[in-house]
Amino acid sequence: MSVQSRIGTFGPGQGPAAKRPPERFDDDELEHHIAPNCIYDFDVDQVNGIHKLRQRIHETVFADDPAEKWSWILGDHFTMGNKKVAKEVAIYNFGGAAHDCLNLGTEHCQVDAANCYAVRTEDNYPHPLDARRRELIIWDHLDPQTFADAFRHWHGRKRNEVTALRLNESGDFRHRHDLFKVDQVARLLDDIVDVYTYSSSDWLPWHKIDHIVVNRSNQRKDFGARRFEVVDDVSDIPDGGIRCPHDVSDGEIKCGSCRLCLEEDAGDVYVKNFYADEE
Ligand code: SF4
Repeated sequence: MSVQSRIGTFGPGQGPAAKRPPERFDDDELEHHIAPNCIYDFDVDQVNGIHKLRQRIHETVFADDPAEKWSWILGDHFTMGNKKVAKEVAIYNFGGAAHDCLNLGTEHCQVDAANCYAVRTEDNYPHPLDARRRELIIWDHLDPQTFADAFRHWHGRKRNEVTALRLNESGDFRHRHDLFKVDQVARLLDDIVDVYTYSSSDWLPWHKIDHIVVNRSNQRKDFGARRFEVVDDVSDIPDGGIRCPHDVSDGEIKCGSCRLCLEEDAGDVYVKNFYADEE
């Protein structure tokens, strides 16, 4: 799908650029008005939990405090850490699923599609693919102010500490809307969390954004805070390059306690290809 037609995802339905006043729909009409199948590359109607999500999005339109309502939806889609990321870090995949990533299998991605960790996760576990597709749909229904306000509501309710927001363990920035929206979200949340991400969408105007720490996942252009490079062998790491402490510590050190990818001024980071030793 072209960039132009993807921008069209902001048009139909009840997203931030809805072209009509809010309208109440019957339950069986929601699929035509909220995330209609025609505007995504994947089969929206097959996404697990999509009907419930459409109902919940519909309710936000008429809520007294839409951001508060959204905070519960977002809260059900943040993941607190994973095998590599500390539990104080909230993960949100506005870029959607790895299977739908616009850079998958292209010259922009630094690993072959077969070696994409995020794709394999979606192949090997039942939950992530659908959850990530829902995260993309949610993102497309939110303007940056509402996302940030909803995050703040959710953050205020959390008993456990949330120190950072990692955007995208799968998917990538699709267009300038994503780029500027993310930057606004990061600016609005500046006082409560560090916002960081990884990207190989090198064609975007990264020099125009200020508030998010970006780890550059390819070498096609110079953008972001640093190069984050996957190497097949540690001997490929250049002098002065930092090997990811998670790798070195055999998984003991996690992102969040290690802050190399979260800081503007740390050096380039190298990580060993997870699948390099496979036949
Ligand atoms: S360098 Fe640190 S923050 Fe970056 S991926 Fe490795 S452990 Fe995580």
